[in-house]
Amino acid sequence: VPHSQRVVEWLAQQTFAPLVGESLVGDTCYVLDLSVSSRMLGANPENSTCGPMTRLIEDALWAAGSHIGIGRYDEPRLIYANDLFATGGDPLAERRTIHLGLDVWMPAGTPIYAPLDGVVHCLANNAAPLDYGPLVILRHQTAAGEPFYTLYGHLAEDVLSRWQIGQAVQAGDLLAHMGPPPINGDWPPHVHFQIITDLLERDADFPGVGLASQRPVWLSLSPDPNVVLGVPADRFPTLELPYEETLRQRRSRLGGNLSLTYSHPLKIVRGWRQYLYDDTGRAYLDMYNNVPHVGHTHPRIVKAVQEQVGLLTTNTRYLHDNINRYAERLCAHLPEALEVCYFVNSASEANELALRLVRAYTRQTNLIVMDTAYHGHTTALIDISPYKFNGPGGEGRKDWVHVAPVPDDYRGPYKRDDPERGRKYAAHVAEIIADLQAQGQGLCGFIAESLPSVGGQIVPPPHYLETVYTHVRAAGGVCIADEVQVGFGRLGRCFWGFELQEVVPDIIVLGKPIGNGQPLGAVITTRAIAEAFDNGMEFFSTFGGNPVSCAAGLALLDVLEEEQLQANALTIGTFLLDSMTALMERHPVIGDVRGVGLFLGVELVKDRETLEPAAEQASYLINRLRDHGILAGTDGPHHNVIKLRPSMIFSQADAELFLRAFDSILGEITL
Ligand code: PMP
Repeated sequence: VPHSQRVVEWLAQQTFAPLVGESLVGDTCYVLDLSVSSRMLGANPENSTCGPMTRLIEDALWAAGSHIGIGRYDEPRLIYANDLFATGGDPLAERRTIHLGLDVWMPAGTPIYAPLDGVVHCLANNAAPLDYGPLVILRHQTAAGEPFYTLYGHLAEDVLSRWQIGQAVQAGDLLAHMGPPPINGDWPPHVHFQIITDLLERDADFPGVGLASQRPVWLSLSPDPNVVLGVPADRFPTLELPYEETLRQRRSRLGGNLSLTYSHPLKIVRGWRQYLYDDTGRAYLDMYNNVPHVGHTHPRIVKAVQEQVGLLTTNTRYLHDNINRYAERLCAHLPEALEVCYFVNSASEANELALRLVRAYTRQTNLIVMDTAYHGHTTALIDISPYKFNGPGGEGRKDWVHVAPVPDDYRGPYKRDDPERGRKYAAHVAEIIADLQAQGQGLCGFIAESLPSVGGQIVPPPHYLETVYTHVRAAGGVCIADEVQVGFGRLGRCFWGFELQEVVPDIIVLGKPIGNGQPLGAVITTRAIAEAFDNGMEFFSTFGGNPVSCAAGLALLDVLEEEQLQANALTIGTFLLDSMTALMERHPVIGDVRGVGLFLGVELVKDRETLEPAAEQASYLINRLRDHGILAGTDGPHHNVIKLRPSMIFSQADAELFLRAFDSILGEITL
């Protein structure tokens, strides 16, 4: 808007009557944070409804010793939940989030005075769906005759009879009163004050909130109204740094190989259920992150953690019921033989401990691992993770590590038409054992994910683990199941991955999703292995099994059961699997669709005969999904498998939304 800057410069030279009859300079006023990342509002949209939000604002003002709340200009907000703020029917399309006015939050009935001379240009009652409630727009002009407007929204109804269009208003005139809910659009009482330098031939429907992608345009149409209100600049704390600054700080202070997803990385500031929100308020359907097992910021888990952290967190050298209760609940989901629990803080720490257990029990070190596996980031776990030791920066295989092929019946040597393929893949493990025995060496054990995820979302063929476990045990080895990605109901058909293969491991390793984001890992084993480990050396992990983490773990189990999420994983997972399989007919780039429950993989190939991996196409697809507001990832040794592992609350509507975008993006791919 060419004259916007001149209007602002002219306003900066003027003095004004106070909008609410008193100065906004002192401690009487407090700037509220209503942004996407507002700690006051949190992630739960319930807090952005009238009653709870009124209480939160009152509490914040009381704590600050102020009685006037200020709502910021140019603040990305998610509080505009109704469909009016969406651009079309797509829930993932960009919504209007950028606040173009300043709010003054005070009790309903507070008088509002005209800050400057003007003429009544528009009087309206913008009831639902526009939700301004009664409003007035005044027309003004600068000394040079350049027109501009000021808008006052969410008023009480008396403004409509107090004034007439065309009537002159003088600075200091009683203009209106703050409206009570629900006539003010059912907001906590406040006035929305906005400057408009060009009405774009609109009046009462001029937006008070704009699209982030058009931010500079809207900020030019509606410059910062604080030039009139005069709240001191140092009262506006910067709570969220600008995107570029966040990126710069990260690059300067954090290690370079702490990688970021996407070439234009996302700055995520809020999570709610199956959605993540970036710093502009854009919503993303999260189909990638499996740690928020029952959805981001699940209120039950948040409450359990908040209550416990506010009461006690200590270590396992004192008695506490949470750890016992949690161990009991976990074991209730397990075969009887798995009866002794150890708690740690991460899956890496759990796998590391599992290694100590097997070594203590067998007094051997030779370990059989699966090709392309990943078990964690510690020194020993890099040694047993071919994905890492054979990957960039890796130092190769250690003597005590022996690599068996992934039982991949799509790409591997034994295909799905071979009923013996499971046993044939297992025979490679028998070969490794025979070689060790021929050299007079013993076996410590075998570790694998029950369904290899980093390997490309592989579902091992029938009889694979059963045969492997038989070979390993016959050689005196111990069988470890890394259930970090696949356990806890994700597969829908069963609670654990190993159940699909009808085996019972000697040790299971848990982490990542089991605390819904709280650091929590576990190792569960047999009495005999636990006794061998209990060799006089104390086992202690300072934070492992602390009351807060166990409270999160317990709440997560409650939610899984009460919301019947394992059944949901089966229903939605099967629907996704069937629908994506049906898409193969139209999209030759899909080589394979596989998985169980909400553990799904789509392998892209350039040619269904040669199986030449289509890695660039997979990367294209992931980036375009992001454009559509959907987060997914790629995996597998050839980076050509689309990995889908949404939270367990993923719904039919979410699945349909994803399938529409997926189908449309696949249509953009030519081979
Ligand atoms: N095991 C598996 C199968 C994993 O996928 C991971 C992490 N992706 C780990 C162990 C290690 O988990 P963390 O980074 O939480 O220690």
